[in-house]
Amino acid sequence: MIKKIFKFSNTESTQYCFNAAFDNLSQLIAVENAILITDKLVYTAHKNKLKQWSTIVLPFSGEQIKTQQTVNYLIRELIKKKVDKSACLIGMGGGTITDLVGYVAAIYMRSISVGFVPTTLLAMVDAAVGGKNGVNYNRFKNIIGTTYQPDFVLYDYDFLNTLPRQEWISGFAEMIKHACIKNATMLQLLSKHTISFFQKNKEELARLIQNNVLLKLKIVQQDEQDKASRHLLNFGHTIGHALERVYKISHGQAIAIGMAIDCTISEKHIGFKQTREIVQLLKQYELPTSYPYNKKALVNTLQMDKKKEGKNIQYVLLEKIGKGCIEKIPIAYLIKWL
Ligand code: NAD
Repeated sequence: MIKKIFKFSNTESTQYCFNAAFDNLSQLIAVENAILITDKLVYTAHKNKLKQWSTIVLPFSGEQIKTQQTVNYLIRELIKKKVDKSACLIGMGGGTITDLVGYVAAIYMRSISVGFVPTTLLAMVDAAVGGKNGVNYNRFKNIIGTTYQPDFVLYDYDFLNTLPRQEWISGFAEMIKHACIKNATMLQLLSKHTISFFQKNKEELARLIQNNVLLKLKIVQQDEQDKASRHLLNFGHTIGHALERVYKISHGQAIAIGMAIDCTISEKHIGFKQTREIVQLLKQYELPTSYPYNKKALVNTLQMDKKKEGKNIQYVLLEKIGKGCIEKIPIAYLIKWL
């Protein structure tokens, strides 16, 4: 296990434990203090690992669990179990679980400790990293939430052995996003390979995951509260989130389409010239790059985006591959381009 500790502005710090095994969890938290929360699919695939852990299993999985109803359910369960401030919640699952459990930990008894065991590629490289959490409300994505850092994130890559291909594809969408906004070398590396290569080459995969986590953490440490430069991580996400809510397509697919559209907007607005390379890379990782959306439905959802300020929206564009930038653009322009 390789441990790296990252400090954040409000003195919170997180241990990122790479190349770990699930059994290492008991070195990070005493079994009697932990309440593990997971979903039915993850539990079914990995229940043999969980025998000694007090576990709450949500009967559903996916975006549908990110609701205030599930938050209320979990709080009821924690009260039933007499969970107090000395406890640590462990969110074990994909990004929906880490977002949900991070949020419950931030508000239960005005905050208790939390740690994550991400089990999807997307959660490993993105959702479990950086402390943002929350749930959806009606068609508004992540509109309720906090920023609250986990005590630890444990990486056991063996969980990926049971991950469906579609979820591998989603994980690569976030890595392509990281490469687009900050790391042209990573984009070149991704261009040379395919999902199957990383599935077969575990060391390369471990290195890629770790590099993505470090890239994201560097951005988060500079702007933990998401007031300025952290917005960069929203490349592809404004339109992506709207698509995800209106059409119920997966997060990874939605942001891939969002990135392809944002490349075109970058071309028109600031003269970006590499749309073709990015669209090709998205296709290479089996991601969609367009969608027959209804403009009116999308625009209605965009109007409630958290990054909207009056008539403008903070928008991430690409100057070139590896260099994202944040521009304030009028919502009316954005609607015209769609
Ligand atoms: P997910 O959590 O819905 O997981 C996808 C599916 O895979 C689920 O059905 C889950 O049960 C199943 N699964 C998980 N691990 C598995 C395993 N090892 N084997 C078999 N099945 C497994 O989706 P996701 O793509 O991991 O996360 C998407 C969510 O993450 C979205 O809600 C998005 O908003 C959020 N997100 C948050 C951040 C953040 O910074 N907080 C960043 C990116 C994404």
